[in-house]
Amino acid sequence: MSDLLRRLPQVQALLAAPGIESLAATYSRQEVTDALRAKLQALRHDIQSGAASALPDFESAAFRAGLARQIEAQRKPSLTTVINATGILIHTNLGRARLASEALAAIETAGRDHSNLEFNLDTGKRGSRHAHVEGLICELTGAEAALVVNNCAAAVLLSLMATAQGKKVVASRGELIEIGGSFRLPDIIEQSGAVLKEVGATNKTRLADYAGAIDADTAVLLKSHTSNYRIVGFTSAPKREELAGLAHSTGTILMEDLGSGVLLDLSRYGLRDEPVVSDVLKSGVDLVMFSGDKLLGGPQCGILAGRADIIRSLQSHPLARAVRIDKLSLAALEATLRLYRPPHDPLKAVPVLRAIAQTEAELRSRAERLTGALSALGFNDAIAQPSEAYVGGGSLPQQALLSFAISVTAPPLSADALAAALRAASPSVIGRIQNDRFLLDVRTLSDDELPLVEAAFRAVLVR
Ligand SMILES: *Cc1c(COP(=O)(O)O)cnc(C)c1O
Repeated sequence: MSDLLRRLPQVQALLAAPGIESLAATYSRQEVTDALRAKLQALRHDIQSGAASALPDFESAAFRAGLARQIEAQRKPSLTTVINATGILIHTNLGRARLASEALAAIETAGRDHSNLEFNLDTGKRGSRHAHVEGLICELTGAEAALVVNNCAAAVLLSLMATAQGKKVVASRGELIEIGGSFRLPDIIEQSGAVLKEVGATNKTRLADYAGAIDADTAVLLKSHTSNYRIVGFTSAPKREELAGLAHSTGTILMEDLGSGVLLDLSRYGLRDEPVVSDVLKSGVDLVMFSGDKLLGGPQCGILAGRADIIRSLQSHPLARAVRIDKLSLAALEATLRLYRPPHDPLKAVPVLRAIAQTEAELRSRAERLTGALSALGFNDAIAQPSEAYVGGGSLPQQALLSFAISVTAPPLSADALAAALRAASPSVIGRIQNDRFLLDVRTLSDDELPLVEAAFRAVLVR
């Protein structure tokens, strides 16, 4: 063993060998060095564990081909397609909303060509990038003015910095949210330079609690959508109209972080508790913020909409420049918002909404197709069963959407091993595990992805 270890060549010596040197013409010297180092490390390990009893021929074509394969594997793009069979429509870990084809086309054009991003074609002078979407947002929400930034977290931070720095922000203890990725409202308030004044209790906050907390230093009353949890039972919170009345009689601003921000009423699809942006503004809230890539179904961005004087003061704040939206997202946002106007039907044209509006018959037939395909491949116990899908992305936490899931096993593989094998497929298929069975929810699948799911299961068979 020590003899084999002694005979292992040095990386530098191998790099100079003629065959291996030729690899550096196809790949970078650094890549070849890294691959060799990994290979020698693995060999050393195998010799020590007794798994290797001889050295490979370092000059052989087979050794070179192995190195090339290793480098190619390293070169695979890191960000890649996965098939979302989790049943969670807006899955932050899986890239949230899929964009409409119109939005994708707009991204391509904006990326390929120069544009009037900040150029006014009427006057020939500098223009505003916000002008491209402000009118559309106002039309769709009833707001006086609007502004778009990089994401909703930035929208909240900017609003507080511009209106409440050095002043007090009053918020209910029932709404001091944390959402994934360490976005904690109390921390954001602190970062903005404002001082949080908590009022009420976790389950109950009254108008009088807010009223009692307002003093000469108070700038903002902040409401937030409790996106990923719900307090149920003995609860109460004042109506938006009441809070708006209080804000306006005390010279403070009523703001609401809506999180998901839905533009149309989805209650007929079973989603009853998501406030529609235009209703929130109509009830007297001065400024709302919401995400572009949740229920709106657009690109990552944060939309601010509300009173014109507040929007203008946000626009001229230095932070606005630091968190501004990029041109590709802006192009995708404009194209997505246009799909909310006739003759388009957003429930058909915007993928997230289309997934919510799917009928039971569509879901059932997709489930049956996939069950049949998996059975035909030899996954004999594949069965379709009723399932609960979720909107996710911090929206509508409690409301399940009716769905179907294909439940399957692949003995002798465990459910975990099957999940790992499907993740290793290309593209990966991500589902969930329940009672030692692998579940694929069809609510988050589209019909044209079914052949890819089949291909992933076929790859499991040949492993
Ligand atoms: C999702 C969410 C945010 C953060 O939105 P991003 O666009 O991801 O920054 C903020 N507030 C609420 C209530 C949310 O649900």
